[in-house]
Amino acid sequence: MTEQTLILDGARVAQDIKDGLVSRVKRLSEQGITPCLATILVGDDPASATYVRMKGNACRRLGMESLKITLDAGTTTEELIREIQKLNADPNVHGILLQHPVPHQIDERAAFDAIAIEKDVDGVTTLGFAQNAFGFAAYPSCTPAAIIAILDYYRIPVEGKHAVVVGRSPILGKPVSLMLLNRNATVTICHSRTKGLGDIVSQAEIVVAAVGKPKFIQGDWIQDGAVILDAGYNEGNVGDVDYEACLEKASAITPVPAGVGPVTIAMLLKHTVDAAEKQLG
Ligand code: NAP
Repeated sequence: MTEQTLILDGARVAQDIKDGLVSRVKRLSEQGITPCLATILVGDDPASATYVRMKGNACRRLGMESLKITLDAGTTTEELIREIQKLNADPNVHGILLQHPVPHQIDERAAFDAIAIEKDVDGVTTLGFAQNAFGFAAYPSCTPAAIIAILDYYRIPVEGKHAVVVGRSPILGKPVSLMLLNRNATVTICHSRTKGLGDIVSQAEIVVAAVGKPKFIQGDWIQDGAVILDAGYNEGNVGDVDYEACLEKASAITPVPAGVGPVTIAMLLKHTVDAAEKQLG
C-alpha cells in the first residue's frame, strides 16, 4: 500500500447517514408514523435471504419497521404482482424492495414496474430509472447512490474526471454511470463484449467495479492515483477488484466488506424515511 492510499470506510459513511436519520425517525413516530420497508423475497437463495435479513435488522436498529414477505420459488409473475399491489395499497408501508434476482419464470421488469413510484425506494421501476437518468429521482438505486455518497463524504471531485464503469446492469452499472455523468464526469461504460478492457480501465481516474466476478479488476490495469469503488460482493466476502494489487496503485479504494455494502443499506433506510415523511404532506 502506498502511504497515501485512502481507505474509503463504508461503515463510517453509513453511520453518518444513519445518525442523520435518528431524529427524523423520532419526529415521525411522534406523529404516529413508523417508517416501514417491505422486502419481498421469492425463492430460497441463501445470499438473497441474508441480504433481506440484514436490511430488516438495519430497520429495527433504527426504530423502523420491516415487513418481510417470503414467496415460494414457483411463484408466478401474476402472483408476485398481486403481492406488490397489496403493499402499494397499504398506507403503513412506505418502501418496497423486491430482492433481485428473482426466479427465471418471473418477468422481473414487469414485477419491478408494479411497484408504486412513491414506494420505489431502490429506483428499480422504469420511471424511477428514467427520473434518475434526468437527475431528479426522489430515490435513485441504492448501490449507485451509495457510491456517490462515498465520493461526496470524502469530497472526491468527479467533475471533468474520466470514470470507467465496468458493468451495465439496470440496478447498478447503468444508473451509476448516469449519476456520474450528471456530476459532469466523462463516463465510459464497459461490459462483457468490451474489447481491450484493461486498456480502457487504465485510462480511468475513477473506476467503478460492478461485474459480479471475484477479483476481476487487475492491479496492472489501474492508473497511479485512480479512485476505485468496488460494488462487487461475491462468495467469501470478496469484491470485484483484486484489492491487494489495486491498493498499491490507487489513491483511494473501498474495501470489501465494509465498503459500498453498508452504505447501500443506509441509503435504503434513508429513502424509506424520505418516503414516510412525504406521507406527512
Ligand atoms: P449483473 O446484473 O450480473 O451485471 C454484471 C455486469 O458485468 C453486466 O453488465 C455484464 O456485462 C458485466 N460483465 C460480466 N462479465 C464481464 C466481463 N468479462 N468483462 C466486462 N464486463 C463483464 O450484476 P449486478 O447486479 O450489477 O451486480 C454486480 C456486482 O455488484 C455483484 O458482485 C453484486 O453482488 C454486487 N452488488 C452489490 C451490491 C451492494 O450493495 N454492494 C448491490 C448490488 C449488487 P453484460 O451486460 O454484457 O452481460
